[in-house]
This record gives sequence, C-alpha cells and structure tokens, in this order.
Amino acid sequence: MNRDASIKAFEEAQRLIPGGVNSPVRAFKSVGGTPIFITEGEGAYLSDVDGNRYVDFVQSWGPLIFGHRDETIEKAVIEAVKHGLSFGAPTQAETDLAKLVVSFFDSIDKVRFVSSGTEAVMSAIRLARGFTGRDDIVKFTGCYHGHSDSLLVQAGSGAATFGNPSSPGVPADFTKHTLLATYNDIESVKKCFADSKDIACVIIEPIAGNMGLVPADKEFLAQLRELCDANGSLLIFDEVMSGFRASLYGAESITGVKPDILTLGKVIGGGMPVGAFGARAEIMAMLSPDGPVYQAGTLSGNPVAMAAGLASLTKLKQNAPVMAVLEARAKRLVEGMREAAKEYGIIMQTDVRGSMFGFFFNEKPVKNFADAAASDAQLFAKFHSGMLDEGYYFACSLYETGFISTAITDEMIESTIEATKRVFKAITNG
Ligand SMILES: *Cc1c(COP(=O)(O)O)cnc(C)c1O
Repeated sequence: MNRDASIKAFEEAQRLIPGGVNSPVRAFKSVGGTPIFITEGEGAYLSDVDGNRYVDFVQSWGPLIFGHRDETIEKAVIEAVKHGLSFGAPTQAETDLAKLVVSFFDSIDKVRFVSSGTEAVMSAIRLARGFTGRDDIVKFTGCYHGHSDSLLVQAGSGAATFGNPSSPGVPADFTKHTLLATYNDIESVKKCFADSKDIACVIIEPIAGNMGLVPADKEFLAQLRELCDANGSLLIFDEVMSGFRASLYGAESITGVKPDILTLGKVIGGGMPVGAFGARAEIMAMLSPDGPVYQAGTLSGNPVAMAAGLASLTKLKQNAPVMAVLEARAKRLVEGMREAAKEYGIIMQTDVRGSMFGFFFNEKPVKNFADAAASDAQLFAKFHSGMLDEGYYFACSLYETGFISTAITDEMIESTIEATKRVFKAITNG
C-alpha cells in the first residue's frame, strides 16, 4: 500500500505543528509508522491522500455512531449554517437538545453545553467542589478525563502511551488535591477516604475506554456509590466516551448505579465539538448565573454544533434497537478476532459494551490499568500495521477502544476477521 503522500504531508505538518498533529495520539507514535492524512469519510470508510480506502473502526474516536457523512446529520448542519454560525445568544436548539439529553438519563434534570469533553469534566469538578465546599477529588489510574490540570494525573490513552502521566507544566500544588485509586479495587478507594476528609467527588469512567475497554464491575460501582453517600461526596460518571455508545441510557442503565453528575461529549455532538455536564436540579442550581460557581463559553451551545447533536441523538432515539445490532456486530468481530488469534497461538482478551469493543494481547483478563499495561505492545503494533495494510483503520494505541458505526455491515465484520487471520499468520511466520 502506497503512503507516499501521507509521509510527505506529515513531514510538512511536523515543521509547523508540534509532532505534526493537534492531538498527540494521532501521531502513531506507539505503533510506529506515519499517520494517514485523510481527505474524506464516507459511511464506514476513510480515504487518504494516496487514494487508499480503509474501513474505519475509530470513528473520530467515538462521535460518529452513524458513520461518516450521515445524511440526516449533514442536512441538519447545512440548514443551521445557512442561518448563521454563531450568535452568543440563546437559541431554541439548545433547549431542544437539553430536553433530549435529559430524557435519556434518570440521574439528570438539567444540563449545560460546552465545546469539548475536557471542558465538561473540568466544569463538573468545579461544580462538585462548589457544591460540597471541599477540595480533594479521587480519580482512577488509567481513566482519562481530558487534559485539564488537576485531572492530568495517571491518565490513560495518549498520556499513558507517552509515558508522562503527570505532564510538566502542571504545578504539584494543583494535583495535590487529586487522590489516585485503582480501578475495580474498592479498598484503594476506602484508603483515599481514610486519608482525606475533604473529598468533593469521586470521578470515574464507569465503562473505561481510555486504557483499552475496561468496564467497571457492577459491585464495585455500587460500593463506590455507598462510599460517596457515607462521606458526603459526589459521584461523577464521565461518560464522554461511553455515553450513547455503551448504552443509549448511560452506564446507570447497565449497572443500576446512578451518578450525581454526568459528563458527556463525543456522540452528543455527532462530529461537531460538543460536551455537556448534567446533574439533578439542586446541584445544577449552584452554577452561574443561578449560583456562585462560574462557568462560561463564547461558543458554548453553538447553533451548528447543536443542530448536529440534535440530529444525531434524535436519530438514535428513533432507532433505539440499533444499539443491539451494533453490539451483536462488535461481539462477532472480537470473537472472530480472538478465534483467529488462537489459531496462531496468540491469546487475546476481548470485551464489548454496546458499540464499543476492546482487545488486549494479554494472557489474563484486564481489570485495571496495570493489567492493561502488561499487554504485548509490540504485538499490538504489528497487528495495527498489518491491519492498516489490509485496509482496516484501528486506533493506533493499545490503550484505545474500537467503535462500530451503523455503516459497518456484517459483511465488513466478516472480511475484517478474514484480514486478522492473514495478519496473525504473517506475524507468527515473521
Ligand atoms: C475523550 C474523553 C474526554 C475528553 O474529551 P475531549 O472532547 O477530547 O476534550 C474526557 N473523558 C473521557 C472519558 C473521554 O473519553
């Protein structure tokens, strides 16, 4: 497969943009090789500047649940653009999207829109601190909550891949309020509560997708809920990735555990920059201008972004059974991959939640970040590069999750499995 044009484009980009990319994980550093420069997406496919075509299992890292250039979303966006790109004043679309978002989750009465997942989580933390009057927060190693200062402590994916979990430029004074616990290990959380009486909130990806796909055990989440209640701390579910991906109705519908604050992003914007955080009315009342906790954004609730979100979530709501179809395809994919690997003596751990799928080249089940990190990174890099040559675009880090869109057909799943067989064969022979 010829990638000369991508290589050239990347060289030029590197002269002008740090690492040639505007978000680190895109740089292919952990798998080697050159990132592919995209010209176009269409349904399940991505096309690159060399004219190659790939089945896309990244989907812009989650947002595109209906694949590229979904007709309904595209139309809604074009219609919105015709009325103006931004007003900095209220529009009906914001209320409509708020109504829709709230309708999916039992746990939230009100929601505020921002422009990214990072902003949503950063604001949710501020709200939790404002509401409780406390400073400390508990996060889990391997969970990623965006790149804001106090949350950039032992985060997964990009941060994990590059081995600088706490970034230079983040003062120790900021992160001293961030206590670290181990995913799926309630004793480690109890220890945090023993160490601090000032815990405003525990934040968790209830279905972690930034250390690969690692869902939290139900029992563990239930115990978290109890610990938070017993200590007067809030529980935040960061579902920026898993929201509308693992289930239409949130992790609370899968696990039965409800958060106090919920953060959303990715799918909620249908490909446009949107994030959101919501909570019950009593908590949201703390937020400016109703309350004293400040939070704002020039482009928050942007009309074009709201139109994309509305179109995307409306379509999801009207086609709710589609989640089961996506889940069945995701399950078939990872089962097929696992069987193919086994034929060549390679052991894989796999998991699926809705349209999210994960796999590790690991002998043991993965329950937390240390388990994920014990996976075979070299084998992953070979697998990634082999699949790319076969025309399948998988996330370029073993700490990422894969996504099925409605544009990916059963036939594509089967051909992907066939391709994995060829790739495993080549890897084990080479
Ligand atoms: C992607 C992600 C974020 C950050 O969202 P951005 O839109 O990239 O700022 C936060 N939390 C989780 C769980 C995410 O997956």
